[in-house]
Amino acid sequence: MEGTWDVVIVGGGLAGYVAANYLARTGMSTLIIEKDKKVGGRARTDKINHEFFNLGPHALYAKGNAVPILQELGIKLYGKSPKLQGLLINDQVEYAAPFNPLGVFTTDFLSWKERTEWLKVLLKLKSTDIEKLPEQTFQQWIQQLTNSKNIQALLLILGRLATYCHAPEKVSASVIVAHLQMVMKGVLYIDKGWQTIIDQLHNKAVCSGVQIQTGIKVNEIKRVDNIFRLSLSTKEELTCKYLLSTTSPQELMKMLGENITQMQMDFFTKLLPIKGAALDVALRQLPKPNRFFAMEITEPFYYSVHSNAAILSENKNTIVLHVFKYLHPNDNIDGKELKYELEQFLEKIQPGWQENKISSRFMPTITVNQRLPQIGDEKKLQRSKLEISGLYLAGDWVSSHSILAEGAVSSAKQAAEEIIEKEQR
Ligand SMILES: Cc1cc2nc3c(=O)[nH]c(=O)nc-3n(C[C@H](O)[C@H](O)[C@H](O)COP(=O)(O)OP(=O)(O)OC[C@H]3O[C@@H](n4cnc5c(N)ncnc54)[C@H](O)[C@@H]3O)c2cc1C
Repeated sequence: MEGTWDVVIVGGGLAGYVAANYLARTGMSTLIIEKDKKVGGRARTDKINHEFFNLGPHALYAKGNAVPILQELGIKLYGKSPKLQGLLINDQVEYAAPFNPLGVFTTDFLSWKERTEWLKVLLKLKSTDIEKLPEQTFQQWIQQLTNSKNIQALLLILGRLATYCHAPEKVSASVIVAHLQMVMKGVLYIDKGWQTIIDQLHNKAVCSGVQIQTGIKVNEIKRVDNIFRLSLSTKEELTCKYLLSTTSPQELMKMLGENITQMQMDFFTKLLPIKGAALDVALRQLPKPNRFFAMEITEPFYYSVHSNAAILSENKNTIVLHVFKYLHPNDNIDGKELKYELEQFLEKIQPGWQENKISSRFMPTITVNQRLPQIGDEKKLQRSKLEISGLYLAGDWVSSHSILAEGAVSSAKQAAEEIIEKEQR
């Protein structure tokens, strides 16, 4: 790690690796520093026994911006699209989910009149021009669109499904609607998990000369005489010409110390993360074999059998499923209660699942995205762009219009291109 690097990237997650691959193409000396022992960040997959567990349910937008960027980097995506069909559950009552033509035709959740209106709402959703949407919350957008409480409930469910956001009164309609439009074009469950994306990015980066150091934390960043000095957890120091941070805004503030303005600090400290509770489960078999997808109607619960679409176990018949609770920023977190709630929700859909359990993993509060996209974020992100020459940002909170992997991958490409352009100038 000695000497001065052209670029140091803090964080070896999706954003860090995408940026590194673009930078490596130019021959700039590039180093990734990752504080964890394993690379991948939140796109990591853990192999438990013979099963591949992503960190909670992970689905890649098949027609979003991330897939073409990954393909441009030569990443092969193996997997399948799950069908948007299954159950909606209200307490003990089950309905067919009206998310595909058969569901619309057969569901008892909507009256005939509401079914016709629902189809019109779906068409409207598909054709909405995001650029022309006024500044409003997702809740306001829904209320303008329909008076039907049932259709409003369906839009809230789809909004949670597409973005993990469970605060319709806070989130920006344009971001949620844009992601809803993407989700309606399908998603991909990836064979053997998202680690396969990270591993391919890692191998390509290494082959192009990128150096990767794991288990080392960047504690402090200082800019002295046009270069960055980084203090590391190993007590070593590093220097570089360009620095790309892919950490959370809070971690970035810690690393920069006094080097950011009050306005930037105010914005960063007010950012809320999107959080959820996840129960990842491997079963020998499903007690009710044809139940692959379900959502609660009024409560924010999700269930999906990911192994129905993707290969997620070395054993052909093993089931890998994810149960999830979308958390509101004001929710009080009680890990024990959340675990009980998720297990009970699964029991409703798959009674007796515990008897078929191979393994399970519970995560009470996992950060899905570092920024809940709120109205006005776009301007604040612009204004609080760090005006430290040579310092660039990427990650799922950095892009104003997109979140999740979409935000992480597109902001990483953009940051790498900005660095390359600056260097060439
Ligand atoms: C439960 C769950 C479900 C999700 N589902 C989806 C989905 O269905 N679709 C979708 O598109 N996205 C989904 N996501 C989001 C997606 O996983 C993330 O948006 C993406 O992985 C973020 O990548 P990143 O590189 O921006 O951040 P991260 O993956 O968080 O990477 C940042 C890295 O920086 C490292 N780091 C931080 N500080 C330091 C430091 N000081 N020094 C060195 N290293 C440091 C961290 O250890 C980390 O590895 C989900 C996430 C979760 C948790």
